[in-house]
Amino acid sequence: MKEIAIIGCGAYMDGGYGCPGEWRCLKAAARGEGNFDEPVQVVSFLKCQCPGRNTAPNMGMAIKISEVKPEAIYLSSCMAGAKPACPYATAEEMAEILTAKTGVPVIMGTHDYH
Ligand code: SF4
Repeated sequence: MKEIAIIGCGAYMDGGYGCPGEWRCLKAAARGEGNFDEPVQVVSFLKCQCPGRNTAPNMGMAIKISEVKPEAIYLSSCMAGAKPACPYATAEEMAEILTAKTGVPVIMGTHDYH
């Protein structure tokens, strides 16, 4: 089974109702729904924290310490499609930084549940 990592917007996870860490990302990954073509194994779930400067280094450290390089890093739907948008970086900018740091491709969004 494909092994993947997910990163969620910590600002939303901390303050929002129904944050991605509750179930949405994990259900979509487990069932192969939303942006997952098939059921996948979530090997790490990282929380971005404002202003986001630690996110790529933390993802790199998670890969190093776990000794599992995911096939893809998914930005949670609330991170990739945030409205209002993240004031620090666009999802595309964050994806570029993550791929440059880890060599792992980034996919925008996880689920389309409401
Ligand atoms: S930097 Fe942006 S994406 Fe990261 S936690 Fe803060 S608001 Fe969310």
